[in-house]
Amino acid sequence: MWLKMFSKSRLHKCIKTKKIESGDKDIHSVADRQKRLPEFSQEAIENTHILSIGGGGLGSEIGEGLARKGIEKLTFYDDDFVELSNLNRQHFFKNDIGKNKAVQLVKNLAKHATCGTIFTGYGCRFQDAVILNHDLNADVVICGVDNNSTRVAVSEYYRKRNIPVIFLAVDYKAEAGYVFVQEPGGPCFGCAFPHCLEKRKAPCFSPAVKDILKVVAGIALYAVDTLIMERKCNWNYRDVHLAGFAPSQELIISRNPKCPLCNKN
Ligand SMILES: [Zn+2]
Repeated sequence: MWLKMFSKSRLHKCIKTKKIESGDKDIHSVADRQKRLPEFSQEAIENTHILSIGGGGLGSEIGEGLARKGIEKLTFYDDDFVELSNLNRQHFFKNDIGKNKAVQLVKNLAKHATCGTIFTGYGCRFQDAVILNHDLNADVVICGVDNNSTRVAVSEYYRKRNIPVIFLAVDYKAEAGYVFVQEPGGPCFGCAFPHCLEKRKAPCFSPAVKDILKVVAGIALYAVDTLIMERKCNWNYRDVHLAGFAPSQELIISRNPKCPLCNKN
């Protein structure tokens, strides 16, 4: 067990990309259009380290967006391996099959970088990285995994360190999804999803499709900006239903004084 954990933790890849320059002073910079947004701070983006737990469908989408926007550092943790059935929605190709997702994803995302992002991928689980004493600090953490055990572990770990976490997930019909932002001192994952503290079963092979992943990852990308710059946000929980039979909603969830997760210590 220990040997397996240790050998996976050694799966590691770091790629440094270069900023795309026009070479001509009269041509707008690569970030020109987003810099025109009044509340957008390119400086903030280029000085932020995002750590993503999960390099699958959600991690792929949000990773591509962060790379394009020009994030300074992007780190992935995932112990899973690429399968043929991932290729219809995750940023992998046929030659990646059988390889570790975190390591392959940073290689593939490097091509999307515009402002010199440093990508690092670790082929191990978040819980194993904690045991192995990895430096898991970042400015913002993204938790796009498929199981509640990891969500609970991530919530607890980063709440103690006052680092914000953006949780995102899609439902088992691939029709709906949510984004929840756990901010320092605010409600935790357990406050927002008390039923998830009980249900910690391993995930099954549920349906998955590109559209809902893109929508949910887009909301999470916006949430990143609201944490590091002045872009406005009047919610800490937002969900979306593509079919429109249930209303999509934006909520401000409060801390639950009886939450067993954030009242532990
Ligand atoms: Zn709580």
